[in-house]
Amino acid sequence: MIISKKMNDAINEEIGLELFASNQYISIASYFDDMALKLLANLFYKQSDEERAHAMKFVKYLNDAGGPVEIPAIKKPKSDFKGPEEAINLALDWELDVTAHINNLMSLAIEEKDYASQDLLRWFVTEQVEEVSTMENLMKVVKMTGDKNVIMVEAYLVHQSS
Ligand code: MG
Repeated sequence: MIISKKMNDAINEEIGLELFASNQYISIASYFDDMALKLLANLFYKQSDEERAHAMKFVKYLNDAGGPVEIPAIKKPKSDFKGPEEAINLALDWELDVTAHINNLMSLAIEEKDYASQDLLRWFVTEQVEEVSTMENLMKVVKMTGDKNVIMVEAYLVHQSS
């Protein structure tokens, strides 16, 4: 085992957070799918897949580093939203939270002179910049349209993908 028990435990906790995010984004995607807002739904289904991939990146790392993978209990995601703005704001808050967690993991890796974990975490630090930016942009657009004209967000997403 090339990493400390403390780092191992912290990564196991992070695996739980990434899996929670994956479930939370399925829940948000379903909320939009139910409203027939397919592009918003697809965006969150895709984000959900990405979160699972994040969890698996940490799982693979722990297995390579020789530490035990112990997936914690995953709490129930929120599934009722007052409107699209609340749903997207939840995702943005969550990404800011995850960014803080990743930064804490990086601080621990630096403190422990754990260069292998620093390498892995560097990727996540960069990834979080993109994740937060995606949600911030979406939030800006939804704030402009308001919940009532959320259909305009679909038009924005068509434009984005072309
Ligand atoms: Mg993630």
